[in-house]
Amino acid sequence: MVDRIKYLLDEADIPSTWYNLAADLPPLHPPINPATGRPVTRDEMAHTMPEPIIEQELSTEREWEIPEPVRQIYAQWRPSPLFRARRLEALLDTPARIYYKYEGVAPTGSHKPNTAVAQVYYNKQAGKRGLVTETGAGQWGSAIAQSAAMFDMSAKVYMVKVSFIQKPYRRSLMETFGAVCVPSPSPETAAGRAVLAADPDSPGSLGIATSEALEAHSKDDSLGYVLGSAANHVLGHQTIIGQEAMLQFELADDYPDIVVGCAGGGSNLAGLSFPFLGAKLRGGRDVRVIAAEPAACPTLTRGTIAYDYGDSAGFTPLFRMHTLGHGFVPPTFHAGGLRAHGMGQMVSRVVEDGLMEAIAVTQKRCFDAAIQFTRAEGILPAPESTHAIRVAIDEALRCKAEGRSQTILFGLSGHGHFDLTAYERYFAGDLDDTVLDEETLRQARQSIPEQTWDLTRSAT
Ligand SMILES: *Cc1c(COP(=O)(O)O)cnc(C)c1O
Repeated sequence: MVDRIKYLLDEADIPSTWYNLAADLPPLHPPINPATGRPVTRDEMAHTMPEPIIEQELSTEREWEIPEPVRQIYAQWRPSPLFRARRLEALLDTPARIYYKYEGVAPTGSHKPNTAVAQVYYNKQAGKRGLVTETGAGQWGSAIAQSAAMFDMSAKVYMVKVSFIQKPYRRSLMETFGAVCVPSPSPETAAGRAVLAADPDSPGSLGIATSEALEAHSKDDSLGYVLGSAANHVLGHQTIIGQEAMLQFELADDYPDIVVGCAGGGSNLAGLSFPFLGAKLRGGRDVRVIAAEPAACPTLTRGTIAYDYGDSAGFTPLFRMHTLGHGFVPPTFHAGGLRAHGMGQMVSRVVEDGLMEAIAVTQKRCFDAAIQFTRAEGILPAPESTHAIRVAIDEALRCKAEGRSQTILFGLSGHGHFDLTAYERYFAGDLDDTVLDEETLRQARQSIPEQTWDLTRSAT
């Protein structure tokens, strides 16, 4: 008999609810409307979100029902496989058992469709005709383009300019689905024009693209605004990943001691780890959760916990989170999806509360790990996912050094088939190992609003 390496579930095993960690945490700090200095109200949220998403955003319910049409679309690629990385274990000669949950099987190659499908569905129900959004590396834009096509809606995507140039095929994919993709900063919006006036060569940032998408949305009522990471409802939708993984670990008759995920806005990491963290908070088994972030955009490891805007122009409410400052423009390293200045507030919260650790890793070491992984396991990871692989391998090597057998689970958030330019540059020796200098961080930090709020009351 061959050693089992793949744990598959049946379509019928796709969970029927998403999990909300807020049910098992003390009250979260509410987002603040900077104009009123008060928590954002439901009415204010209604400008950008349909009712069911507002419900989820504010919810302290443990379970949210997954609408049947969404589950039907999930069934196209879900449940996603959980693999035991036996060949990588052998290569590392480690006593650790390494598993990875592979989200690259989704139609656009990452975990992003898990929430895209849900958000597009709710906007369609609310009577919207189309969607507008921002994208970093293009993964989110592709997921929205695909979901919009499935629900017969239009999609317009503001894509961070450096990625637009580095990843022309992501744009082609979006266009194939029928979406319009615009490099950001663009001359189409006041926010984009302001950035271009100050720096015509601006590489763009997720914050700038978000400002542009929000501005475009504010001018057209028939469009829904959707966002790819960080928000509570997005993190909730992604918990389909971790819930499936828990069922798959039952099949494997094992349980992770360590869960690792890469962190941009925190959605795939939260999606994988929150169901395990929730079980722990409700008295279940202990688990170490580790966020792996790039040293070039070290939000969790070197950011400040403060109320700050989610975008660069200050259109969003203020969220209490780890932030490098909303004026931060990250260097142009390759993990485009990990370039956000701020972290999802719930991920920030569990880091602050000591329920999650964070480690910053440099780019070349991530690609070193990715090459080992690819040659052993046969899957080419997205540049973002390489951060999780690096940390998982480091943990496996620690187990080896300590002569200790532990179970390590990491999130393989996507494949890298559209990111081969990054691999090409790695092999050409062109990647630099940017670690941000203190001065750049100090300057970015000055864009964090000075006023502080200490409100533990929920929005009503
Ligand atoms: C977008 C993306 C990420 C980062 O986003 P999170 O919200 O932090 O998960 C990571 N991996 C892949 C493949 C992505 O597309």
